[in-house]
Amino acid sequence: MEKELTGKWAQGVIVRKEIDKYLIDGKDFINEEDIFYRLKKNVNPDSKLIHDILQKSLSIKTLAPDETAALLNVTSPEIWEEIFQTALKVKKKVYDNRIVFFAPLYCSNFCVNNCAYCGFREANNREVRRILTLDEIKRETSSVLNEGHKRLILVFGEHQRSDADYMAAAVKAVYSVEEPAPISGKRSSIRRVNINAAPMEMAKLKLLKEAGIGTYQVFQETYHHETYRKVHPANTLKGDYQWRLYALHRAIDAGLDDVAIGALFGLYDWRFEVMGMLYHTLDLERQFGIGPHTLSFPRMTPASGSALSADSPYHVSDEDFKKLVAVLRLSVPTAGMIITAREKAEIKREVIQLGCTQTDASTRIGIGAYSDQKTESDLDKKQFTIGDPRDLDDVIQEVGKLGFISSFCTAGYRCGRTGETIMGMLSHCEEGKFCKLNAVLTFREYLTDYASEATREIGEPLILKEIREIESMDYFKNKPHLLQKFRSEYSEILSGKRDLYL
Ligand code: SAM
Ligand code: SF4
Repeated sequence: MEKELTGKWAQGVIVRKEIDKYLIDGKDFINEEDIFYRLKKNVNPDSKLIHDILQKSLSIKTLAPDETAALLNVTSPEIWEEIFQTALKVKKKVYDNRIVFFAPLYCSNFCVNNCAYCGFREANNREVRRILTLDEIKRETSSVLNEGHKRLILVFGEHQRSDADYMAAAVKAVYSVEEPAPISGKRSSIRRVNINAAPMEMAKLKLLKEAGIGTYQVFQETYHHETYRKVHPANTLKGDYQWRLYALHRAIDAGLDDVAIGALFGLYDWRFEVMGMLYHTLDLERQFGIGPHTLSFPRMTPASGSALSADSPYHVSDEDFKKLVAVLRLSVPTAGMIITAREKAEIKREVIQLGCTQTDASTRIGIGAYSDQKTESDLDKKQFTIGDPRDLDDVIQEVGKLGFISSFCTAGYRCGRTGETIMGMLSHCEEGKFCKLNAVLTFREYLTDYASEATREIGEPLILKEIREIESMDYFKNKPHLLQKFRSEYSEILSGKRDLYL
């Protein structure tokens, strides 16, 4: 019965005309011949060319395909060192030195697809299936709030039971929860809910917009058509490459202008996937004038019952992973970059210093695993394995030691700094100034409401250093009203007010 229902439902999901309208002469924007040609043409780039490309990134311009291909072809360790250093400079210019924290909340592992790398796929009989009720979602939200989180990403398998109506109800359930902070007792709630879910038609995307989501995230997994076909069976919804490729085009048309792209690294050649993400960015810029809000570059990790996830010929080494992160940073300078707990702490630490802007912490990816901690060790209730299960407080302490300030800022989309507005501000390095102010305000809340003593010891001097920097920057001297508002909001937070931003 369940099977038949799922089948009927699945037949109505893909709306062909919502793909065709974006094609150019009937073709999608991933021109593989062109990608291979550019990767080949740009072998042995000379150091002057690389230097010019780095300067272009530093002027916060999206790179052209030949430029990214040249970076991907660098062989000299000295030049790679220069690339790594420039990646961090670009990040600091656009986003200052803050790291934004979030937590993922896995709502359901029912799925009609059969992606070869994922523990949630329908054919995986070992997976214990569960969909959270709205009350359970609220309970999970309370646990995450108790850690100090303010931003969540909800994750769903693709299934009739977790359709757009369920997602919208889940988003509203999350926003409805309030919890007192453990130290100060100040009431807190989640301020931004993002979504990672399957592609949808525009009418459904509009439901998510109405529910108040922040970013909508869909990873293409692999941009290589043949590999895509191999790992996503043709008789499944996910088997339609172009339905997925244009998921974010539809989202922007539906009014969701913070969209996030990604590739699952390890399915195909990593250089090709980096080019694919650049082509995706360029097509969004061409059709809408805005690029992706964030880039994700998960590396495949072992998943329950998936041989491919544990042993792929395209597994990306740690060394290549650092290179791809740096090249993405330089290729799309305005995008946020997300490094997740799939990676081990050591790798996260390294790539944060290559220009990542966001990370998750205290991550539990089992369904219901925040409130039901004991399920977490069981791979058969999860999608894949994680490399960094550390608590938020530990990770904040670590990034503080590296000199980065932790941020829970959600001001951008609440102040209308999304889509074209934020892209303009990012490329003129203005948004980073707001990031800096809002990072200080939200870190102040965290230190007062949640931080351990050890984290406060690192955090208090860091916050004072940031404030001194803000006070001495010409940008703020020329905007005295902004500085004044920041000072007064900071004092108000100290005296007990919450959720103030600029
Ligand atoms: N079902 C939705 C979809 O496929 O778009 C939701 C996303 S899925 C739960 C989230 C992402 O996890 C996928 O897009 C994929 O990139 C990633 N993922 C799947 N299997 C993985 C694995 N074995 N290791 C690391 N990431 C994985
Ligand atoms: Fe389902 Fe997404 Fe996993 Fe594919 S990656 S099996 S669509 S949950």
